Amino acid sequence: MERSFAKEVEALRLGDGEVFRGEGILAVTKALLQSGVSYVGGYQGAPVSHLLDVMVEAKELLGELGVHVETCTNEASAAAMLGASVNYPLRGAVTWKSIVGTNVAADALSNLASPGVIGGALIVIGEDYGEGASVIQERSHAFAMKSSLWLLDPRPDLPTIVRMVEHGFALSEASHTPVMLELRIRACHVTGEFVTKDNVRPAHSNLAPFATPAKFDYGRLPHPPSTYAHERLKVDQRMPAAQAFIREHGLNETMPGDVSDVGIIVLGGLYNGVNRALSRLGLADVFGVSRLPLYVMNVAYPLVPEEVKAFCAGKRAVLVVEEGFPDYIEQAINAELRRADIQTRIYGKGCLPKAGEYKADVLLAGVADFIAQARPACVDADDVRSRAAAIAAQRAKASASLADLPPRPPSFCTGCPERPVFSAIKLAQRDLGPLHISADIGCHSFATFEPFSLGNSILGYGMSLASSAGVAPSAARRPVAIMGDGGFWHNGLISGVASSLFNQGDGVLVVMQNGYTSATGQQFMPSSVGPVAKGAEPMDIERTLRAIGVTWLRRVRTYHVRTMMKTLKAAVRSAERGLKVIIADGECQLARQRRVRAENAERLKRGERVVRTRYGVDETLCTGDHSCIRLSGCPSLTIKPNPDPLRTEPITTVVESCVGCGLCGEVAHAAVLCPSFYRAEVVRNPRWWERALFMLRRAVVPGLAPRAA
Ligand code: SF4
Ligand code: SF4
Repeated sequence: MERSFAKEVEALRLGDGEVFRGEGILAVTKALLQSGVSYVGGYQGAPVSHLLDVMVEAKELLGELGVHVETCTNEASAAAMLGASVNYPLRGAVTWKSIVGTNVAADALSNLASPGVIGGALIVIGEDYGEGASVIQERSHAFAMKSSLWLLDPRPDLPTIVRMVEHGFALSEASHTPVMLELRIRACHVTGEFVTKDNVRPAHSNLAPFATPAKFDYGRLPHPPSTYAHERLKVDQRMPAAQAFIREHGLNETMPGDVSDVGIIVLGGLYNGVNRALSRLGLADVFGVSRLPLYVMNVAYPLVPEEVKAFCAGKRAVLVVEEGFPDYIEQAINAELRRADIQTRIYGKGCLPKAGEYKADVLLAGVADFIAQARPACVDADDVRSRAAAIAAQRAKASASLADLPPRPPSFCTGCPERPVFSAIKLAQRDLGPLHISADIGCHSFATFEPFSLGNSILGYGMSLASSAGVAPSAARRPVAIMGDGGFWHNGLISGVASSLFNQGDGVLVVMQNGYTSATGQQFMPSSVGPVAKGAEPMDIERTLRAIGVTWLRRVRTYHVRTMMKTLKAAVRSAERGLKVIIADGECQLARQRRVRAENAERLKRGERVVRTRYGVDETLCTGDHSCIRLSGCPSLTIKPNPDPLRTEPITTVVESCVGCGLCGEVAHAAVLCPSFYRAEVVRNPRWWERALFMLRRAVVPGLAPRAA
């Protein structure tokens, strides 16, 4: 795992009246235990990975409470776990990254939302939206609306986040509806504190199991004709019950201000940004005391019309701050106001952009524009405008001073085992011609950036092989699909491999076997060989593939570029029809370095011999054409001035961060480049004979060098 959560696990034991300090997402873990959750599951992904990581690491405490934790193989299996709450008064929580995870879980969510739940069901989704996000820019809000799930979007401060988790379970039970708790990136990583309560042992768990299963009730199954009744229940009973609960428990917040003719309706997750904009425009202090009244929607769905109407009544203009497209809330508010014949003018998209992240500068400009258009009675609109203009000018000046910074696209770590595969693909294409490459989700998608620029499509996690199925029959050469081992277990095995075999597909699949779901923080998965798998045999990708009928299968060590290149060529050119799979084997270097560094430190402490491999470039041989850099993309390779006064091209050099993976040397060999690379071993605590050999070399080698004339 990426990091240790020992400190956070300890914080989960805090009791009544103590203080929890940390990140928003970690506050959620404590709030779950305070809410008496019986089971927790999920699939890792930023920005909510740490929730599951902490729960997995806290197995001992959870065992004491009887809380079951499941590391699910994908989001669909996590969502399906919530089925326990359909028939039993069990509180359950699951987590994943949205929108992509919610897409994967959609089938289970629909089937869960239809019969509804008895026990509280909470889905903690990391809303990965905005310019730091790594997924498609869509809103989870649409899922809430289509399946009638309630969507909480808490103000990013820890007491509010914790309150929403606790109320989320109660809301779910009061309205028999699963509840989604949307945590935006900033809400996950905001730091703060809250006063804790004792953990609550669930009434039913593995420590106190049910004596008998729930009574069979066809009406609780999402099957026709029950589904027809479920649809009516959602509209006639569950939504009104939810709206009543939200009102009675004050889940949304109204914050007064001295300006009475205008106001702002803001989604909870965007509140901090709006308050910051108001404070920079002289309309609020940094602690949240605003001159403009605010209605903060900690519940994004359903809308509570009575609250919206009460807030808007008597105001000439209200700004709705709702990030992303479409403007579901703005439309709904307009409809409610028109129905009630309230003539408040709603501003929203127009002052603010229709799409994209509402960052500080966007909100500042949007709020300033609203003030300029609405002109509140006792606000100096000209002062607001000049403050906004001054901030924008300052920002433009700062940006201009950074104009020469080169772009820094993300890339593989130094020594990554996946980089050599793409070097091999580039080299193979010199002989094969261009290939259609179906890329996938995971670290290997970094190959879509320079210097590889490989990947004609990405269609979802574990979907590369399935996506090349449509290309293969029409392509002159077999397409190559890339898939990580994480994607393989997530759904690539079924949607890609099984489908290809079933349909007698004819393509090439490269499975990157690095041992972890690396892009999300090196969590373990079914084929991981690690502490989680202790006592249980890890699943084997090769055996699995053979078992379901793959016959053309090669396992190649990723760093052996020449072998990888030959194997790829053989797979693409083979006369044999059918799926060809290459397992590209190499442990995630980041995880390896973390492991090896700790092991080496221990060995050094014991006075044992430790060897570190480094690569270097012989300055007198380097031609300065830099093919090695273009073919490997290793960030430890850079350039420096040529020491030869007669040559002007800068030469390649290896910097201190080199982990000695050997790719640069392999690439130079496979591509028949110059022989400049050398391999060196830095030995600590050497043996006596190594010391003796070193002394001998030091004495003899200088004598072999040519003497200066
Ligand atoms: S985390 Fe591991 S697999 Fe991912 S880029 Fe880094 S070394 Fe490669
Ligand atoms: S410089 Fe060479 S040996 Fe060092 S990490 Fe980069 S590719 Fe590997």
